[in-house]
Amino acid sequence: MSELSIVMLGAPGAGKGTQAVRIAETHGIPHISTGEMLRAAIAAGSELGQKVKGIVESGALVSDELIVEVIRERLSQPDAQNGFVLDGFPRTIVQAEALDALLAELERPLQIVLELELAEETAVKRMLGRALDEGRADDTPEVIKNRFAVYRRETEPLSNYYRNTGILVAVDSSPGMDEVFAEIERVLDGVK
Ligand code: AMP
Repeated sequence: MSELSIVMLGAPGAGKGTQAVRIAETHGIPHISTGEMLRAAIAAGSELGQKVKGIVESGALVSDELIVEVIRERLSQPDAQNGFVLDGFPRTIVQAEALDALLAELERPLQIVLELELAEETAVKRMLGRALDEGRADDTPEVIKNRFAVYRRETEPLSNYYRNTGILVAVDSSPGMDEVFAEIERVLDGVK
């Protein structure tokens, strides 16, 4: 099987998680969401969970060092050997550099970075809707505001980082999720 390694980029609420799940199901690769891993650790009350609880609930980022270790461990699991779709990682330039170094070590360079583009106003509306459905502690209006500020400062620069490597593809995330997914599949067809 040919490997498919993908990073999802985009603002909070742009639909990364929804699309990542569908990509993972369709291509038989794991969906690796650092946010979900951290929420699971918090729910389990593990040492990691206790360490990150306050940070995650405030919308700030946990340390690069800690999250890179989480990803290093996760990518070494058997199910990640034929590819993966990363959702929520990397979130800083330091994390992107660490990922490049890790994948270079494994001789498995990243194939594609999908950036979901969505106006902030629409994204905020979607997130407030999600708060009602899922009850995420970090989907309150105040924390959402903070997450956007963190995104703009720390994560948005990743677009240029990946654009410079030539593997970034932007996808308009404003249509319905089926249409967005169809567009993603067209893009992935060109990669394989
Ligand atoms: P997400 O589900 O991707 O929106 O992540 C939820 C929260 O988990 C974020 O607001 C951060 O507090 C934390 N988090 C998730 N991924 C990362 C990451 N790559 N680096 C730092 N913090 C992260």
